[in-house]
Amino acid sequence: MNRRTFLKGSGAASLVTLWPHNLSANPAIRRVRPSDPGWPSKNAWKSLHDAVGGNLMSVESPINACLSSPDSADCKSLFVNIKNPYYIGDNPGVTQTLGWVDAWTTKPSVYAVAARNAQDIAAAVNFARDNDLRLVVKGGGHSYQGTSNAPDSLLIWTRYMHDVTIQNDFVPQNCQTTHAPQSAVTVGSGTIWFQAYDAVTTKASAYVQGGGCTTVGVAGLIQSGGFGSFSKHYGMAAAGLLEAEIVTADGKVRIANACTNPDLFWALKGGGGGTFAAVSRLTLRVRDLPQFAGGANFTVKATSDDAYRRLIRQFVGFYRDALFNDHWGEQAHFSPDNKLEISMVHVGLDTEQSRKVWQPFRDWLAQSSGAYTIESEPRIGSMPFRHWWDVDWRKEHHHDVFKSDSRSDANPNNVWWNGDAGQVGWVVWGFESLWMPASLLKDNSQEKLANALFAASRFTDVELHFNKGLAGAPPEAIASARDTAMNPAVCDAFALAIIADGQGPAYPGIANHEPDVAKGRKAADNVHRAMNELRAVAPGGGAYVSESNFFESDFPRSYWGSNQARLAEVKKKYDPDGLFFVHNGVGSEQWTSDGFARR
Ligand SMILES: Cc1cc2nc3c(=O)[nH]c(=O)nc-3n(C[C@H](O)[C@H](O)[C@H](O)COP(=O)(O)OP(=O)(O)OC[C@H]3O[C@@H](n4cnc5c(N)ncnc54)[C@H](O)[C@@H]3O)c2cc1C
Repeated sequence: MNRRTFLKGSGAASLVTLWPHNLSANPAIRRVRPSDPGWPSKNAWKSLHDAVGGNLMSVESPINACLSSPDSADCKSLFVNIKNPYYIGDNPGVTQTLGWVDAWTTKPSVYAVAARNAQDIAAAVNFARDNDLRLVVKGGGHSYQGTSNAPDSLLIWTRYMHDVTIQNDFVPQNCQTTHAPQSAVTVGSGTIWFQAYDAVTTKASAYVQGGGCTTVGVAGLIQSGGFGSFSKHYGMAAAGLLEAEIVTADGKVRIANACTNPDLFWALKGGGGGTFAAVSRLTLRVRDLPQFAGGANFTVKATSDDAYRRLIRQFVGFYRDALFNDHWGEQAHFSPDNKLEISMVHVGLDTEQSRKVWQPFRDWLAQSSGAYTIESEPRIGSMPFRHWWDVDWRKEHHHDVFKSDSRSDANPNNVWWNGDAGQVGWVVWGFESLWMPASLLKDNSQEKLANALFAASRFTDVELHFNKGLAGAPPEAIASARDTAMNPAVCDAFALAIIADGQGPAYPGIANHEPDVAKGRKAADNVHRAMNELRAVAPGGGAYVSESNFFESDFPRSYWGSNQARLAEVKKKYDPDGLFFVHNGVGSEQWTSDGFARR
């Protein structure tokens, strides 16, 4: 029985008008599927189609070609295309992550509104609410936990909303008396980070804090909190949000900023995507561009377990002394085959300065010859920051850093980092994260940290993402992070540990392309055991909402820590009937796992 049928049947329909909409937490909601009698009629869908300027489409998954005929040419071409994030992004029926063993599998919505503006989004929100439909919102489609994907649903698809406008004197609405005009960039909510970086950095020589992966959506990342390679200097991406235009569950187009709907504004900064409203537009702070950015990349292999233990111990001390500051971000990897892989970036150092930083560590390695092999020679240096996302410059100088969209009609700017290529069309086996408190870098804790990293690396690859923990960042970056909904643990962490494993494109039911369930379960177990070694030294560290376990235990505490109660209040105020539902989102515990029925 759907909500309206229930109300009619119980004679309660007349009562509903007495309740202000935003207080009508209705316990009896059950959302309808196409097979249910309450599913909207063809005429009703036609009225939505007209209301959104003809931009309602039925959604088909390109994966269907393989399910029906795995040997067909269409299926072969799918398994080529599915390694291209732009192909995936252009297709409403598929997602960047194809699924997660024992958790979820990507499945298309029934219909999608290919929204062009906030009014299209409002029409979709009203239609879904009035017809008891499961609603889902997709931007860049990069959710690991499948939160932009729901079968039997109506999808708000923002892919075409990617206008990018730079302003020199932006003042958030109604903030004229409190905020001085500042540089800002306003983007449609379907914009992906590469489009923002191209406009702001490559074309306008300025900086906006976004994400590392170029094809992640701006709206999804900002609502996650969001980190980019240079977040150790500039802080969280969400902390740079100045204003959002959104559509709330009552269908109203609203502005959220520090002066207008400030509770909602705060919740959008890290409270999780697809939870509080559908975002149509975002305005982000723009800053001056530093002169240089660069990196340090190399791999060292230890010849024995003992030597590897010493290497990790040495690196931990070296990190604290030389790298634990706002210049250095990105990653160090520790692996079962006793390798330490450094792939770090820096901002604000020239080549000579960056090389000098690493010299003591390289000297130590040289003095310990026999114990270590340098598997890939150190590449340490700098480049002009303004070319960081400049496709032509990179092609000329560093031709191996980007992969390109090879479709014949592709925009030449459709690129993604080589380092992210392994996760295109990925099937997750296991994925966990943990903020590592900076107290572990103290002299008397370094041994404990090094031992935990060694123990964890016995199970599987362990990554420390230094740019995703803000200890060591400038006070302003930390203060602005505290004014977001993210778990405050981020401010005291020197890094986010990520341990994850998965496989390339696969889908249940496609012969020769099935996910390897047995291997996946074993890998998930190893991921969990490895992370438990780190949890032993960082108990209660918390996890990053967008890069965490589908099965995260006590997820509200993990993702939002002391902010969870305030987020629950915002959710109750603006979406009491849970129209915006995502797995492990604020308020999701009141719903069945598919978001179709209130528990
Ligand atoms: C390969 C890869 C690399 C990544 N790298 C980074 C990184 O460097 N730094 C980092 O911080 N994170 C990173 N992430 C995590 C990423 O930031 C999150 O998964 C983010 O939520 C993805 O946003 P999206 O728009 O691409 O994805 P989607 O799956 O489209 O959206 C994610 C969530 O946001 C919601 N959402 C999207 N658009 C809207 C909207 N307009 N209104 C309301 N809700 C919306 C969706 O409903 C969904 O719940 C990475 C993920 C992947 C797969």
